Amino acid sequence: MLYNGVQIPSLGFGTWQIPNFQTAKCVTTAVKAGYRNFDTAEGYMNEKGLGEGIRRTMGELGVERGELFISTKVWNSHRGYDKTLRAFEESMKKLGLEYLDLYLIHWPAVSRWHDDWREINRSTWRAFEQLYREGRVKAIGVSNFLAHHVRALTEDSEIKPMVNQIEYHPGFGQVESASYCQANGIVVEAWSPLGSGNVLKNKELARIAGKYGKTASQTCIRWLLQKGIVPLPKSTHEKYIIENADVFDFALSDADMLDINAIPYCGGMRFDPDSAWS
Ligand code: NDP
Repeated sequence: MLYNGVQIPSLGFGTWQIPNFQTAKCVTTAVKAGYRNFDTAEGYMNEKGLGEGIRRTMGELGVERGELFISTKVWNSHRGYDKTLRAFEESMKKLGLEYLDLYLIHWPAVSRWHDDWREINRSTWRAFEQLYREGRVKAIGVSNFLAHHVRALTEDSEIKPMVNQIEYHPGFGQVESASYCQANGIVVEAWSPLGSGNVLKNKELARIAGKYGKTASQTCIRWLLQKGIVPLPKSTHEKYIIENADVFDFALSDADMLDINAIPYCGGMRFDPDSAWS
């Protein structure tokens, strides 16, 4: 649950790199498999497809809007109060939704590229606070914020972010950011929970997965769930979509959790938010 009382489903479905024309089909497949939490972004160019998938789900599968949790993000070129409000309206038009569950700042403005990075983030956030107060979004948050970015944002804002979505998978966990957020009541979501698929070949992960009769992918997802982190696995294949949701019938032991923590970097983007994007 988010600190404002909004329920966030513990497992999400990622849609980055799913082409718009394929997104509605993936969404309906995912809803049938049990997912209720869907992540997109202005930059993924598939908000229309996601909205279409949600409408199909509600029509054909009888799922209520209130059971679904839909997130999108404002892109870097639309930072700042006015541009953010306009970008939000554009996203909502594409999604075709009456309200959004979660709106995220995709990447922080950072000191490497902007002398006034704090003010830029603050100004974007003022638009977020307004959308939240108006009830257009049920929750607001950030993505790719390191602890010092979150601290700077919260210092002089009225509403604290409810979520921080960061890269987190075996071999690369942003442990400091995650711990800071969790200690401050901010829910952490893991992007690239499978390291974009690259960590699935890791032998140690395969060894641990084998003990439970599960796949490496299910083991990554379970490891995140047990850390209280919301994983957002993406797939375009029905088989994988179903497999990735079948993670609630086993529990990794403390020793196996520690062994997965110790896996060295073995794939994934490993972006540094302090320099990745201007
Ligand atoms: P994931 O870590 O979820 O990995 C997806 C890749 O793994 C795809 O190639 C997929 O193949 C493959 N895969 C999925 N399940 C299985 C399985 N069970 N067995 C074998 N292969 C599998 O990657 P993403 O990088 O897409 O991250 C997930 C989501 O996180 C994104 O979709 C997006 O929503 C979010 N994200 C957010 C970012 C941010 O800046 N906030 C940045 C990046 C991602 P296939 O699709 O062919 O089935």
